Amino acid sequence: MNNEKSSAEMLKEKLFYTKKHIAEILSDKEIETAFDFCDEYKNFLDYARTERRAVNYAVNKAKELGYKEFDKNKKYAQGDKVFVNNRGKAVIFATIGKKPLSEGVKISAAHIDSPRLDLKQVPVYEDSEIAFFKTHYYGGIKKYQWPTVPLALYGTVIKSDGSAVDIKIGDDKNDPVFYVTDLLPHLAQNQSQKKLSEAIDGESLNLVVASMPFKDDKISEKVKLNLLNILFEKYGITEADLLSAELEAVPAFDARDIGFDRALIGAYGHDDRVCAYPALMAEFAAKDIEYTSVTVLTDKEEIGSDGNTGLNTAYLKYFIYDLAECFNLSGRDVLSKSECMSADVNAAYDPNFPDVYERRNASFVNYGVVVTKYTGSRGKSGTSDASAEFMGKIRNLLDSQNIVWQTGELGKVDIGGGGTVAKYIAALNVDVIDVGVPVLSMHSPYEVVSKLDVYMAYKVFLAFLEQK
Ligand code: MN
Ligand code: MN
Repeated sequence: MNNEKSSAEMLKEKLFYTKKHIAEILSDKEIETAFDFCDEYKNFLDYARTERRAVNYAVNKAKELGYKEFDKNKKYAQGDKVFVNNRGKAVIFATIGKKPLSEGVKISAAHIDSPRLDLKQVPVYEDSEIAFFKTHYYGGIKKYQWPTVPLALYGTVIKSDGSAVDIKIGDDKNDPVFYVTDLLPHLAQNQSQKKLSEAIDGESLNLVVASMPFKDDKISEKVKLNLLNILFEKYGITEADLLSAELEAVPAFDARDIGFDRALIGAYGHDDRVCAYPALMAEFAAKDIEYTSVTVLTDKEEIGSDGNTGLNTAYLKYFIYDLAECFNLSGRDVLSKSECMSADVNAAYDPNFPDVYERRNASFVNYGVVVTKYTGSRGKSGTSDASAEFMGKIRNLLDSQNIVWQTGELGKVDIGGGGTVAKYIAALNVDVIDVGVPVLSMHSPYEVVSKLDVYMAYKVFLAFLEQK
């Protein structure tokens, strides 16, 4: 057989844009490195199931590496490493680069909040001798996915004396978990006729938390009393203390490899810890950086980035203004020269639901990091549409580092859509582009990503930070 390429074949190779599975591009050694990188990512997922836990993980690691709490009255020099912990729910890390800050900073931003069930302020009630916690879902969920799933409970309770009690139940194998019930199929004739979006009502997402009565003949609500007694004995909290609490019920499953070849990872909360973790690891690993790095792990993205730990507020801007002042520069001049990778997941093409994707512009698992020029919905509403110039710069950077990447839109035009933090950072006059990892079953209690894509995300952030 003649192995020589015809001139048409060569011309096609030169002129066509083609995509390949990462495994067809990487060496076996690189694939092994990628798989190894994901071992600690899985540990991170199991630990960092809430934004507070993710901040804890990141800050603890950073302190080991010499990051110090940022002090705007101090003078900083090349190589200094600082962090700002925003109320325990969002965090900024920065490493001072060689170039003056007047040439701008490199911002990587990812979010560490994920869809979940939050407890209401007055959550406890008893019905038919079962005690429940009322919940209010957080972020965009398909409500029918959350019953009959083991749930862990995390958060903080502020007692009447002002002291804080940390709650963490369900991540240890010996811990109990919590649970939302669903109707048995035998009695679900009416439920089954309902629209999927209405089959499970928001007010029915109540957690089963206890069923044993307090032993006493005289009182009512014995199961609730017994429950509150357990909570008081264990944590010293009363029902009124729950008024000032943030408690989050999240899936209790651990991260696991999926498939015979172990190429995929199933876990709760890949969106967006699958970008936050590689961004953090790149911040920690970047060497001899020219530009100052600013890595932001933010909260509240899933509910629109509003609130003082979300990026639709001033905390990132204030940090960069303060850092600029340390060098006698104006914050706006630094921001205007800065660049940002807004890191968030993209919807991976799902062959089981081909109708909602436009194949030529969809992202695929195992095809690398998704670079998204714009997100939003309808006529590009609610997004930052990156310029051709900035897209060109990022394209050259990734290609020069042999990073496997692809483009991806969030589904067909007019079928839905979604936004990211990109527009809030663009609002600071920063050049922003969306990058991220493709996810299957996004926003479900157990999402799926590819290990090779996760590793490529790490390489993207590292290349961005180490850019000359
Ligand atoms: Mn996200
Ligand atoms: Mn999301």
